[in-house]
Amino acid sequence: MIHKKLGILGGGQLGRMASLAASRLGIKTHIYAPEENCPGAQVATWFTQAEYDDTKALKAFADSVDAITYEFENIPLDTVRFLQQYCEVSPNDRLLEIAQDRIKEKKFLNDIGIETARWQEVTSPDGIADALSAFKQNECILKTTRMGYDGKGQMRFKLGDDTIHAYHSLVPERSSKIQLIAEEIVDFSCEVSVVIARDKLGQTAVYTPVLNEHRDHILYKTTAPAPIPSAQMETIKKKAELLAGSVDLIGVLAIELFITTDGKILANEIAPRPHNSGHWTIDACSCSQFEQQVRTVCSLNVGHPHRHSDAVMVNLIGDDVKKVKRVVLCSGKVYYDLLEERESQKIKDVAILRLEQYYPFPDVDLTEELKGYPKLEEVVWCQEEPENMGAWFFVDRRIEAVLAKLGGKATRPLYAGRPAAASPAAGYPKAHKRKQQALVDQALKGEY
Ligand code: AMP
Repeated sequence: MIHKKLGILGGGQLGRMASLAASRLGIKTHIYAPEENCPGAQVATWFTQAEYDDTKALKAFADSVDAITYEFENIPLDTVRFLQQYCEVSPNDRLLEIAQDRIKEKKFLNDIGIETARWQEVTSPDGIADALSAFKQNECILKTTRMGYDGKGQMRFKLGDDTIHAYHSLVPERSSKIQLIAEEIVDFSCEVSVVIARDKLGQTAVYTPVLNEHRDHILYKTTAPAPIPSAQMETIKKKAELLAGSVDLIGVLAIELFITTDGKILANEIAPRPHNSGHWTIDACSCSQFEQQVRTVCSLNVGHPHRHSDAVMVNLIGDDVKKVKRVVLCSGKVYYDLLEERESQKIKDVAILRLEQYYPFPDVDLTEELKGYPKLEEVVWCQEEPENMGAWFFVDRRIEAVLAKLGGKATRPLYAGRPAAASPAAGYPKAHKRKQQALVDQALKGEY
């Protein structure tokens, strides 16, 4: 039986994207989160604002839906176990328990034959020195076993540093709750990740592994596919299959991995949900990681993870979004020219959105997307084709209608591209390059 009402624990951006994917499948969502007016609640059919230990609210939530999933791994295990008495929760509590604790996670991965960096439990300041001698190294990384993310709850330790000071900078005195592990420092050539979906029949869909680049410990850029040899791609996909089968996954999970300078592949972390490095699947695959999450937990078959385009995703966070004054909309490969130019010119106040579908025009999605830019002043449509070809004459009034709904400063889209012409191409390569550069400058900087 297909479940038609999906409950989601957590109302952040991942819950929001899952809700949007659900609505396209005709499935209604109920978001449960402690925060008021969270991003997920803005697009869900129902929203319950309550704490994760409010059993009365949890019971009512479970009774209101056909299946439950979660959008982040720090949902208390007790909450999930309570809900399981009344409604199916996927992925199961066993996977959640493993993903919440670095010791359980690494033990489990090693037990099923997935290699990680060498690691050791640290229960006292002396344990740090023990770990260094076990690794036969002068440096290691200390991490809290729980709740660490984006580099929080971790530090590098060098032989000769004060072990008591290091230990207590992560574990407050008299805290019995926080535990540490030490990990050897991996000499990696790159960081990659892979996302897999698995349905109730055990059928899987694995996306192409992607390359992840971080800035200040936060994911900055994802490139799909990762530029690594195909043998490594296959090995990574096999590890994902192995893990998903071993935990009897129903839903989506991601594995973050290191590729070492001597070619080894080591797992670092797992996430029992769609991953930040998998957002590109919305634009570049026939079925996104969010649609997979909804499909698999609602008893539909897993979708095909076919990648119809390569993709680069840049993570805009908080203040970056607030700086954006101009949004450039485009389609096809001009996107990459715009992206490269914006990177090389270090332009911070322009966002580039690639539209893959014109008909039916994605006015709801575009409106939602543009709402995210509070300082928006200009919206530009950029295309390679001459003005009388391409999509401009189709999209201009539709974009205008979206801007009217938004009611902001921008009221009409601007056009950046070649003037009307009889021929779709520019002729000589040199002339093509010059004209291409001109339209990219026009789109990004308004230079005509
Ligand atoms: P994590 O919180 O485990 O995802 O770590 C955040 C980032 O720290 C990773 O993406 C790596 O860039 C770096 N890192 C984590 N563990 C190690 C390690 N054992 N060796 C080298 N770098 C690491």
